[in-house]
Amino acid sequence: MKRISDVLSSRRSLFSTIIFVAACLAAYFALSLFFVGREEASKASRAAFFADTIGGALERLEHLPFVIAKDRMIAQALIEEDGGQINPLLAEFGQRADAEEVYVMDLRGQTIAASNFADEISFIGEFYTFRPYFQDAIAGRTGRYFAVGATSGRPGYFVSEPVRDGFGRIIGVVVVKIGLDALNRAWRDSGERILVTNRAGVVLLASEDSYLFSTIRPLPGGERQEIESLQQFGTRPLDRLDWEVHGETRVRLDGVEYLYSTADVTGEGWQLHLLSSLAGSQQQAALAVFSMAVAVLALVIVMAGYRSRQLRTALAVSDADRARLAREIEVRRAAEAQLKAAQVELERSSRLAALGQLSASITHELGQPISAMRNYLVAEEIAEGAAPGALNRQLGALVERMQGITQQLRFFATPGGAERRVFSMADAIEGAETLVKHDLVAKGVSLSLDFGAKPACVSGDQHRLEQVLVNLLRNAVDAVAESKVREIRVQVRVERSEVVTEVRDTGEGLMGQSFGDLQEPFMTTKSSGEGMGLGLAISAQIVKEMGGTLDARDGEAGGAIFTITLPQEEDMT
Ligand code: ADP
Repeated sequence: MKRISDVLSSRRSLFSTIIFVAACLAAYFALSLFFVGREEASKASRAAFFADTIGGALERLEHLPFVIAKDRMIAQALIEEDGGQINPLLAEFGQRADAEEVYVMDLRGQTIAASNFADEISFIGEFYTFRPYFQDAIAGRTGRYFAVGATSGRPGYFVSEPVRDGFGRIIGVVVVKIGLDALNRAWRDSGERILVTNRAGVVLLASEDSYLFSTIRPLPGGERQEIESLQQFGTRPLDRLDWEVHGETRVRLDGVEYLYSTADVTGEGWQLHLLSSLAGSQQQAALAVFSMAVAVLALVIVMAGYRSRQLRTALAVSDADRARLAREIEVRRAAEAQLKAAQVELERSSRLAALGQLSASITHELGQPISAMRNYLVAEEIAEGAAPGALNRQLGALVERMQGITQQLRFFATPGGAERRVFSMADAIEGAETLVKHDLVAKGVSLSLDFGAKPACVSGDQHRLEQVLVNLLRNAVDAVAESKVREIRVQVRVERSEVVTEVRDTGEGLMGQSFGDLQEPFMTTKSSGEGMGLGLAISAQIVKEMGGTLDARDGEAGGAIFTITLPQEEDMT
């Protein structure tokens, strides 16, 4: 099952993607409008600029025919009807002025001299009577005319002037043909889409050759006939262009919509049409949006990387904090455990202290009567003779037990540990063995002793340590009394400057009790009269006085193991 946080985060990323795409689309439309607006704002001035360029190109050589017509040699050649003499001159004029052709016609309209006299296709001998520029010049006016060359087939702008003799009579015509190919080429190279139409709507100049000599509106029959008669466009069919103007700013050419602007070309009634592609503006907008989107995505990636690094750092810090906290908890728990142990120890100590006071008064109070009873019994025995009666014997045994109890209690009343002497652990064990031998034999228990290779010595009161060992051995004898196997093993070894003495038996073990429980004063499992539950309390006290510890645990193979651990001393013997 998906977690809620996963669902939320996938929803959030879907939402962000939708917002992002919407923002990109909005930016695209806004930028498209902006670029189209910019294009619209600039297209009128650009159209005017291109129109000026054409005007400039046409006017540049406008005065050249007038100047040439004034040349004496031209008039002379016309008078002498010998064009050959001025051919080189016309060629030089043409070349210097960068005119496409310069030529001279006589009054009949026949070309008598031309700058292209040496070319394969030359104008010499040709009649251009039908051209309006010839008619204008003959009539004494400056002629201007755009046409496709009747001989060359190349379009050009023709400017003509009459040539007069010394009496001012018109004797011929000078014509300069201005080529406009360079303009077409320049527009093509600039990437602009430009058409220039004449009054009739015929395309005279175009940035693309395929549009040349097409019409942007239908030609009325009369107009077409006139054009054909003047051979203005040679044999060009003057087809209709797929041209449709929408409002003032849009035009559809060959099915593609363009931004549109027009400008008049001065003097000729020509019109320049500048077409700017809408797709160009849209491409610009798309490119800008794409760049922006890439930048935003890059920024998002960088920010996400930065954020994840921050998160990783925060996570590492919180991990470290957690580990530190865990360590602190551990330390606190250990301190609590120590405190608890100290409290238990304190309670035990105070109980032992109270027991000491109690024991002192009991032993003091009972000591006298018990001694008196003992004295009475001795006196009675003496009075009755060598063999005391059964009552006496029973009373004697009871008095002895009472004395034993008061002796044990006296231990708590009198602080020991004053005497300190180095002695061998083996000696103490052997001393204790002598004291319990009788019990061992009586209960059929075997005792094995292992003192290790080296003698192990401890320091303290040997007599009191023997008391401890006797107590442990007696308890062990009691523990194995009911067992099938009745064995006690005492083992001494030295470990890290400590003498470790273990008393193992084959009894029932500790039955789930801890040593802390067992050493509580008056804690006993033995029936009344057999044990007072003071043995282990006294033993632990004695071992503690000697700077060691007493402990107990269950053996791996059953039975109990009591361990006395004491600081090792150097052997003085
Ligand atoms: P007492 O021997 O008078 O009962 P102790 O203080 O010596 O007093 O012992 C307390 C209790 O510890 C015993 O009653 C017994 O239940 C238990 N105990 C002591 N030694 C052993 C042992 N070797 N095996 C099993 N239980 C033992």
